[in-house]
Amino acid sequence: MDTILEVKNLSKKFGAFWALKDVSFTLYEGEILGILGPNGAGKTTLINCLLGLVLPTEGRINYFGLPFPKYRSKVLEKVNFASNYVGLPLSLTLEENLLVYAHLYRLKNPKEKISELLKLFGLWEKRKLRTRTLSSGQMMRLCLAKALLNEPRILLLDEPTAGLDPEIARDTRSLLQSLSHEKNTSIIITSHNLSEIERISDRVLVLQKGQVKALGTKEELLKSFEAKSLEDLYFRLN
Ligand code: ADP
Repeated sequence: MDTILEVKNLSKKFGAFWALKDVSFTLYEGEILGILGPNGAGKTTLINCLLGLVLPTEGRINYFGLPFPKYRSKVLEKVNFASNYVGLPLSLTLEENLLVYAHLYRLKNPKEKISELLKLFGLWEKRKLRTRTLSSGQMMRLCLAKALLNEPRILLLDEPTAGLDPEIARDTRSLLQSLSHEKNTSIIITSHNLSEIERISDRVLVLQKGQVKALGTKEELLKSFEAKSLEDLYFRLN
């Protein structure tokens, strides 16, 4: 599998406090990496460093083998962040919303791409409706469609199913899984929801007080920590 992202000894200090300390991991093409950790573990700080919104104090982030700060604009074009309802003007129709973003991304055939995504996410029938009329599950799917317009190689998702009802959260998970497995999109997903991470991730990174406490497939983690379940492992680490 190709390496798409490499994080080496990443640290972030806020004042005298280390929110991240010596975090290293690799993300492979088409994999879903789940980042698990209690509140304050550093999950959001890590995502923000990956997006270039927070400047690391130490360490390196390489996308596609290239150092991040140097290729920042190129990488940011490829990276999208879908979370809650960020950046979707509610008075526009679904189609208009996607057209605005397609324009920003300078897509060549926006109509075709937009139709494809609206159909993929089951929103085709609603395309002429105002965005404010959507349910939270439909809104999440529109956010994902928006995030995928530019065909990002990596999706960074910070608590994407927080606040969604269980059925919609399950649909979102299966959409993310088909994206990674069929379209080879790599996904980093943070959650404090153990069962969500357990169900969706190919590998799991456990963050605690800004440090990597465990990294591997679920089976590897259970074996090396002699734990019965991810829950068992997680509470033992805490
Ligand atoms: P998580 O997403 O896992 O809940 P965060 O990354 O939001 O954790 O926060 C990790 C720690 O860093 C927390 O203790 C938080 O208070 C601190 N922190 C995050 N952002 C800032 C900031 N801008 N200034 C100071 N401290 C911060």
